[in-house]
Amino acid sequence: MDLTLTLPELRIDLGAVLRNYLALKKRLAKGADAAAVVKADAYGLGALPVARALSDGGCKAFFVATPEEGISLRSAVPEADVIYVLHGPKNIDIKEFFAHALTPVLCTPGDVALWAAEARKADRRLPAALHIDTGMNRLGLSAAEVERLTGHADLAALDLRLVMSHLACGDEPDHPMNGAQREQFEGLAARLAPRAARSLANSAGILLGSAYHYEMVRPGCALYGINPRGAGENPFAPVVTLTVPVLQLRDVETTGTVGYGGTAAVRPGQRLATLGLGYADGYARALTGRGAVWIDGRKCPLIGRVSMDSVVADVSGLETPPREGDPAEIIGPHQSADDVAAQAGTNGYEVLTSLGKRYKRVYA
Ligand SMILES: *Cc1c(COP(=O)(O)O)cnc(C)c1O
Repeated sequence: MDLTLTLPELRIDLGAVLRNYLALKKRLAKGADAAAVVKADAYGLGALPVARALSDGGCKAFFVATPEEGISLRSAVPEADVIYVLHGPKNIDIKEFFAHALTPVLCTPGDVALWAAEARKADRRLPAALHIDTGMNRLGLSAAEVERLTGHADLAALDLRLVMSHLACGDEPDHPMNGAQREQFEGLAARLAPRAARSLANSAGILLGSAYHYEMVRPGCALYGINPRGAGENPFAPVVTLTVPVLQLRDVETTGTVGYGGTAAVRPGQRLATLGLGYADGYARALTGRGAVWIDGRKCPLIGRVSMDSVVADVSGLETPPREGDPAEIIGPHQSADDVAAQAGTNGYEVLTSLGKRYKRVYA
């Protein structure tokens, strides 16, 4: 038996990530540039190799969520023009921002006051981005807070590189919030920092058209092959393949049930394959009764509950039974991360950021 086939394999196509980045850039309005969002370890794919590949392909600006992510990213892309930290200059020694050349995204009046005080201490205007809220009600200064900050001395202490906001419903092209957020964003940005670059669009926002591009866009999911609109034709190339081995084959001899709770009945004549994949690997327990895998190019439904480290597939429909060690496709040419997400009742983002905590990532 070929032992290499018995290993689970989470394969990440860095060439496809770069092609998706370049395809996004091609869509942009003149004067707009594309940063890359590599938070949460590049959506679970590995921030360091992903950022390395994107930087080699010409990407100069990156977004992470936390300062820790920024620190580790800086070692992978020392040449990057800017690494923005979305959560701002909090929960860390401020010195780390300087030591690793990280730029905070200021989200609250407290963030602004803190960073302005640092600028006065350093006796220079410190680079920063500013997040303004335009309807998401998650992160960013409210309209009233923007009003209070306009013309404030704290603002003059900062080198405001970017004013940004985030779309709540960018994946629904006809949603009235898109236009409303865009209008509010333009008004607030013009009032607060008329010379700073502006950024509104995530991946889905880019697909809304050039009116949403401004000077910078912030794609994440599209880079990783997730469909920004969740459904319909995906304009971006798949990036992730996950295969796991068949651990055991069983020809059912007596009527019985499969898995915890005895929830799924089986009869003699059925053939089952147990696979080394479970909810500890991010394969959601919610896929019980809904998930499927592909073996030898055929769809095999899961049977019984998803357990921590294994699932059971019904392989009775295969003409040639698989052998122990044969690979079963979890994500790949036959079913995308978005397809698995639809089976699990979640989105592709959650599938990618959850999957394969135990698997070695293989980069192509
Ligand atoms: C995560 C995130 C993005 C990227 O969003 P995608 O939908 O993955 O393209 C952009 N901007 C902000 C503020 C984010 O939090």
